[in-house]
Order: sequence, then C-alpha cells, then structure tokens
Amino acid sequence: MTLSKNIAILGSTGSIGQSALDVVRAVDGLNVVAISGYQNLELLVRQAQEFKPQYLVAADADAGREFDFPDLPGTEVLYGSDELERIAGLPDVDIVLAAIVGIAGLPSTYAAVEAGKTIALANKETLVVAGHLITELAERSGATILPVDSEHGAVFQALKSGKHSEVSRIILTASGGPFRDFTAAQMKAVTVEQALAHPTWDMGQKITIDSATMMNKALEVIEAKWLFAASPGQIEVVIHPQSVIHSLVEFVDGSTLAQLSPPDMMLPIQYALTYPDRVAGPSPKLDLTQAMNLEFLPPDIERFPALELGFDVARFGGSTGAVLNAANEAAVRAFLNQEISYTDIVASCREILDQHNFEPHPTMPQLIAADQWARQEMSKWMVA
Ligand code: NAD
Ligand code: MG
Repeated sequence: MTLSKNIAILGSTGSIGQSALDVVRAVDGLNVVAISGYQNLELLVRQAQEFKPQYLVAADADAGREFDFPDLPGTEVLYGSDELERIAGLPDVDIVLAAIVGIAGLPSTYAAVEAGKTIALANKETLVVAGHLITELAERSGATILPVDSEHGAVFQALKSGKHSEVSRIILTASGGPFRDFTAAQMKAVTVEQALAHPTWDMGQKITIDSATMMNKALEVIEAKWLFAASPGQIEVVIHPQSVIHSLVEFVDGSTLAQLSPPDMMLPIQYALTYPDRVAGPSPKLDLTQAMNLEFLPPDIERFPALELGFDVARFGGSTGAVLNAANEAAVRAFLNQEISYTDIVASCREILDQHNFEPHPTMPQLIAADQWARQEMSKWMVA
C-alpha cells in the first residue's frame, strides 16, 4: 500500500503547521496542495519554495498585498481569509489540517466540514464555539473530524479498544503548566515572560498562555465532549507533569488504556494525516531503558479555576462556548499586551460568562454576536 493524500495546511506558519511540514518531509505520500499564513510571509514563501503547493494564501489581505512576493512557479498566490474557505472545499484536497489559532480558524474549518472533507483538527476553538453546529454539519456532509490535539489523539486511539457504550471515563492529562506549584499569592505576580515558558511543550503564544492558566484543559474538556459524544460527567482531568501519557480511557470493566509517547506534536499530527494507517515517521520514541517517573495528581480547582469554566460550558452548551472562547482570546491578548494581570484572565472570563444572555440553541450569527459581545465586555477589564 502506498499512501497518497493531498493536504491543505491552514496555518502552516504556526507551531502546528511547521510540525506538520516536518512530518510531510519525513513521510512519503503526503502532498501539500495549499498552505496559509497570516503575518510571517517570509516563512510562508520559504515553505512554498520547498513544498511547491498549488496555492498559497496570505490570509491577511492587506499585509499580503503589501508584501513583495517572489515568482513562485506552479503556486498561485491568493489574498484574504475568504480564500481559506474556498481552498478548504477544493475537490483535489483530501485532508484539511485546521491549524489556525482561535476563532479565526472557524470559517475555514466550517467550510471543510461542509464540503465533507477529512479534517485533521488542531483548532479546538472551532468545537468550543460551535460544537453543536459542526457535529450536525459533519453528520450531514459525511465529513470526518480527526483530532490533532495530543490528548484527543490519545483518547481516539484508546477508544478503539471498546464500544462507545462501554466507556466509563475519558481522562485527559494536563502537564499543569509552569505554575503547577505556585501559591495563589505567587500567581498574582506572574509576568508575561514566566507565563510563556512552558515546561514540556513548545507551542504558539495563545495556547502557551492557555496552558499556564489551564484554560487549555478547559477548552479540551469541551472539545472532548464534541469529538467523542461524551457526557461532561464522563470527562475528568488529571495532572501528569511529564506529558508522556497523553490521555486515558477507562472502560466499564475497569480496564484503563493509555497512549504514551515523548511530548512532541509530530506524532498526533502524523496519526491524523495517515489515519487509518500507521507509518514510520520522524517522532521521537520512548526510551524505557532510562529511569522515568510518571506522576499523577488531582487538579487544584482553587488555584486553577479555569477548569471549572470548561466543565460549566460542557454542561450548559448553547452560547456559553462562544462567550468563554471570545472572552479568553481577548483576555490572553490583553495579558500579552500587559493590559490585564495574569489572574484577571480567568477572573474576567468567569464574570463575562456569568453575565451573558444565555441562548440554548444558537445559530452561527448568534454565536458570532455572542463572541463580539464577550470581546466588548473584556475591554472593560483593561487598564486605560
Ligand atoms: P500559532 O500561533 O503558532 O500559529 C497560528 C497559525 O494561524 C499561524 O500560521 C498564523 O499565521 C495563523 N493565523 C493567526 N491569526 C490568523 C487569522 N486571523 N487568520 C488566518 N490565519 C491566522 O498557533 P499553534 O500553537 O500552532 O496553534 C494552532 C491551533 O492548534 C490552536 O487552535 C491550538 O489550540 C491548537 N493546538 C496547538 C498545539 C501546539 O502544540 N502548538 C497543540 C494542540 C493544539
Ligand atoms: Mg492538548
């Protein structure tokens, strides 16, 4: 059997996008037909020169038009985020790797689902905001959504050992981030630099801050609910500082299955791209000849209140995901710009979520409106 898949990598200049290209370099039969980036256009050009995709999308149309693109034989240069949606549905695209960060990734992911594609989903925000619409749409269109998030990739693999009705718990592991052992008082003084230094994972800025606050795990609880049709009561979080066990599934008979590998995103990306096949690739392997401890600790909700927000949104559904996601995106940006403190990230999200006008069955326009309302509310938290 030879692998032959045409992949559109939306967000190829990001951390996931670059790791995906590392996989493509090492695995035969993965052909890159489209790449996209927002601002780092020099890198996007280098990627086009190396991978010779049919399409390159400069998603920020203004930055793209100002940029002096060199001649790229065989590659059509496109401008603006609308083009991402078109690319996601092209007939010669087999897999869309949704690797744009934040709600900016929603329209193109939606378009890929609508076109019935296989989506390798890194952009968890799409499911957090619009999980009910995306899963309904995928059922209608026949689209397949494969997780790229390492935890969900682990759960996806473990779930193959039993039936849906035989699952008792989905246990998501979390490294605990750089502030795992910080006291509440220490958390108040956290700087941007400290929050950007993750102990086990090297990732984009937004998810790195989300990992520090554990909002990332909150978003992943919501993501797990939609990906695996799980009830929120079945999902649990455990702190596992080494990030070697990427998650676990417990079945009704008491058997628990885990997936292990060194902390590196190439493996979950590759698994989604080559699924249902497994092929040799560039990911590091576990070395069990070296002594290694695997620790598990319960999460501390008092010091990491973001987790509770994730379970609340998983339970209430409706418009809550759009509000939490938007409040968090705006709060993370404000924190990085030193406009709010570290502890205000989650405090503001909690207040905005509690104040919002709940809509149980929102349409896409209602979700967008909820998103915009939450961002507006967030601006009240910023120091002038
Ligand atoms: P990143 O910031 O490194 O990259 C984001 C990509 O999106 C870049 O290509 C950027 O150019 C593009 N982009 C940014 N704003 C855009 C906009 N408005 N319109 C179009 N494109 C835009 O982020 P990342 O760490 O690679 O994360 C990408 C997604 O994958 C996120 O949803 C994140 O939660 C998820 N994820 C990341 C990791 C990881 O290890 N980095 C792990 C699991 C899940
Ligand atoms: Mg993850």
